[in-house]
Amino acid sequence: MVLDNLGSSLRGTLDTLQGKSRLSKEDVDEVVREIQRSLLQADVDVDIVMELSDSIRTRALEEDPPAGTSARDHVLRIVYEELVALIGDSTDLPLEPQTILLAGLQGSGKTTTAAKMAWWFSKKGLRPAVVQTDTFRPGAYEQSKQMCERAEVQFYGDPDAEDPVEIARRGLEATEDADVHIVDTSGRSGLNEELIEELKEIEGFVDPDRNLLVLDAAIGQGAKDQAQAFGDAVGVDGVVITKLDGTAKGGGALAAVNETDSTIAFLGTGETVQDIERFEPNGFISRLLGMGDLKQLAERVERAMQETGDEDDWNPEDMMKGQFTLLDMRRQMQAMNNMGPLDQVLDMIPGIGGGLMDQLPDDAMDVTQGRMRDFEVIMDSMTDEELRNPRVVGAERTRRIARGSGQPEERVRELLEQHRMMERMIKQFQGMGDGDMQRMMKK
Ligand code: GDP
Repeated sequence: MVLDNLGSSLRGTLDTLQGKSRLSKEDVDEVVREIQRSLLQADVDVDIVMELSDSIRTRALEEDPPAGTSARDHVLRIVYEELVALIGDSTDLPLEPQTILLAGLQGSGKTTTAAKMAWWFSKKGLRPAVVQTDTFRPGAYEQSKQMCERAEVQFYGDPDAEDPVEIARRGLEATEDADVHIVDTSGRSGLNEELIEELKEIEGFVDPDRNLLVLDAAIGQGAKDQAQAFGDAVGVDGVVITKLDGTAKGGGALAAVNETDSTIAFLGTGETVQDIERFEPNGFISRLLGMGDLKQLAERVERAMQETGDEDDWNPEDMMKGQFTLLDMRRQMQAMNNMGPLDQVLDMIPGIGGGLMDQLPDDAMDVTQGRMRDFEVIMDSMTDEELRNPRVVGAERTRRIARGSGQPEERVRELLEQHRMMERMIKQFQGMGDGDMQRMMKK
């Protein structure tokens, strides 16, 4: 993921400050050098990098750390604040009925993003529909339709029609009962007149609440020109940066967007409909820097484990290192229930804390007592093999488990989905430095 190495190299440097109460000029220079190196590697504009390092250097040396703050925490907080300011705000995106128009260059990831966003909105409890008006790229219709099926959201398109405005008109009519409409448009190579004229026409007809510009992270600093050009033409309310999983230049795109008046709405991090994250600067940077209140969390986990009556040899450290099974998940759900409000708990986890929770599908939070009971019953109907390796559960086994547990198949699939989501969260832990992990697990 983008800027990954900033997190790890910076944490290494910060760890050398451990135990110090005052920062020397050399300490600060070392931290600043690390940041410069990582940001330049991530294709962030040189001037921005220099400006950022100047303010970090000045603040670290001139500001007095609050009483009781170590040198390491002082500098970490300054770096955090400056990085949050560098990538700017998140696009305002209320969870309410609305129409969103997607624009961007061909291949930027619009079609994929449309389905991903629809999936995201559906997980937030809304009823989204995708209207595909791309008449230019052969295959856009079929691709869009298939992804929407996978996302289980409404779709409208017409492979035989030629007028995008007409498709938009019919599409909005046909999906009247949806509350969020995502209108995908054609992209063209390069910013040409024709694209802009067509876009203006569709925009005029659809009258969207928001125009989102989709940008491929690989264009790096080029994001600035694109955001500017589309902004001048139709107005851009927010940007979606895609393919952050596949490029080292993402930092450039992220920082460049903030240089225009735009904000970032979503990040695309893969090819499946679920690979989308709501952009949240605080959470994004916290995760990058591996921050979070580990000590508090460790204490809560420990207390909760005691309350869960954990007599057998289950060891959370093993779970973090190896595979995350359904048995681990059951254990975790029980412990979580003993830990108190889930949002507070997650706030303390580096990588999940801060506003990053907003990016998780709502279901991830929704381990209610009732749901847990259903899950327990389902797990009771699963074989040991299935519990240890849930990937073996295909359609047939799902049917059998549903029959055996008296639960709907949908609930079985929900359990498996929940497991996958938690597994992904655990993987984030596994990506953390060993030092962090040890600190977290220490009593
Ligand atoms: P469009 O021409 O703007 O509609 O672009 P598409 O949605 O067809 O995307 C172009 C290519 O990029 C496709 O092969 C997608 O699978 C791929 N793609 C889109 N978003 C992402 C992403 O976030 N990560 C990765 N790895 N691939 C992506």
